[in-house]
Amino acid sequence: MRELYKPGQRVPGSRLTVIKEATPRKSKHYFLCQCDCGSEPKEIQYEALRIGHTKSCGCLRREAVSKPVNPESLKVRRAQKFKRAKPKNNTSGVKGVSYLKAVKKYKAAIIVNGKQFYGGVYPTVEEAAAARKALEINKDNLS
Ligand SMILES: [Zn+2]
Repeated sequence: MRELYKPGQRVPGSRLTVIKEATPRKSKHYFLCQCDCGSEPKEIQYEALRIGHTKSCGCLRREAVSKPVNPESLKVRRAQKFKRAKPKNNTSGVKGVSYLKAVKKYKAAIIVNGKQFYGGVYPTVEEAAAARKALEINKDNLS
């Protein structure tokens, strides 16, 4: 006998919890499943659940479309954006402070003798600017 899902059982590796077995269609088992996102329960074919084909009500797929696929492709996209943009050294309007869009933070840095020194990452441009100022004051001690 094939192993089927019991009511209340979590479908492994998915966002779905089985509510109950639904009426079979074309001699195939269907289960009424509740998705973690809180959407309306859906009847999903047993095979699709078992092989991991269906892992949510569809919200996972929607999220995958709206989110970048992986950080690597994001990096490439950002690099391309920079190539198109007019050359400039920072993205915050403050010298030595750049805005890190991915983490929504400001990075302070200084270049001394062609070497970049890192002053940390801050939630506000003011803090980053202060850190950058401190770097500038100490720049003779940086090496
Ligand atoms: Zn969902």
